[in-house]
Amino acid sequence: MRAFDYARPASLAEALLDARQALAADPPATPAFLAGGTTLLDLMKLDVLRPGRIVDLGALRQEFGQIRPDRDALHLGAFARMAEVAAHPGVNAAYPVIAQSLALAASAQLRNMATLGGNVLQRTRCAYFRDPSWRACNRRTPGSGCAALDGANRGHAVLGASDACIATYPGDFAQALVALEASVVIAGARGRREIPFATLHRRPGTTPHLETGLQPGEIIAGFVVPARPWTRRSRYLKIRDRQSYEFAVASAAVALDLDGETVRDVRIALGGLASVPWRAHEAEDALRGRRLDEASAQAAAQAAFSGAVPRAHNAFKIPLGQATLVRALLEVKSMEITQ
Ligand code: SF4
Repeated sequence: MRAFDYARPASLAEALLDARQALAADPPATPAFLAGGTTLLDLMKLDVLRPGRIVDLGALRQEFGQIRPDRDALHLGAFARMAEVAAHPGVNAAYPVIAQSLALAASAQLRNMATLGGNVLQRTRCAYFRDPSWRACNRRTPGSGCAALDGANRGHAVLGASDACIATYPGDFAQALVALEASVVIAGARGRREIPFATLHRRPGTTPHLETGLQPGEIIAGFVVPARPWTRRSRYLKIRDRQSYEFAVASAAVALDLDGETVRDVRIALGGLASVPWRAHEAEDALRGRRLDEASAQAAAQAAFSGAVPRAHNAFKIPLGQATLVRALLEVKSMEITQ
């Protein structure tokens, strides 16, 4: 691992000031914020990330670690640990898709350490990105090409990719946030701003190295998940190559508001299949006002993948993703709901 400067500010204001000073230094240093460290330290050891300055945010945990469901919304601090949120009774009862997406991620050790803010910012698992001995990776080195286009791309995206990058967004929690139309609270030098979580991640386009809308020196402070008629009837279905400690090959976060067997409203996000946490608007449109059964679920799944672009080794993800969504929809329909 390369040498770096280290700071442990005592407050958010100090952390933001430290970041601002690092960016303004000559030469400027883009600081890396350390929370749980479960992604950052991995990528530093692999020499993929080479931050000149680490700003350790451990002291902010008290201030930004809340898990607070109230009548209108679920308020989550960015420094709450994944395991704490997954085990929270109020989250399990009223926002099950959130709890499930966290419980099914990573391993118990990682969930005990990793924070929510760090989790949504985790980097792709594309093997070419994570191994600097591969020269061609536009995400790691802009303009260098993409080794995955003609390489081993079984795990890569069929939705939302570009010819510059076909990497898959690897997380689970983000799909639940997208499905429940959460917002993310961002703190920076100019104060706080709250934006729809679905706008945080950027599709790769021609600039895959720009992964989110966060500005240099900004920090995620928390998330707000509104309580809506569909949040209680929700779940996260994750399909992977083995049953634990594995990333999704395909996943679906589904939230459903039913009038008898008819879909009054529905929210769907897909994971393991796309370049960003993927809202499946076409599938939602296909279901609204229809009786939910195997046929309508199949039609929705077809619609969800109408724009899919397979590569040499990942075409199987289209029928797998469709089957995952159909199963998730039918399982959510039959959920027992307690008020
Ligand atoms: Fe890099 Fe993206 Fe290509 Fe992977 S898919 S090698 S991350 S540019």
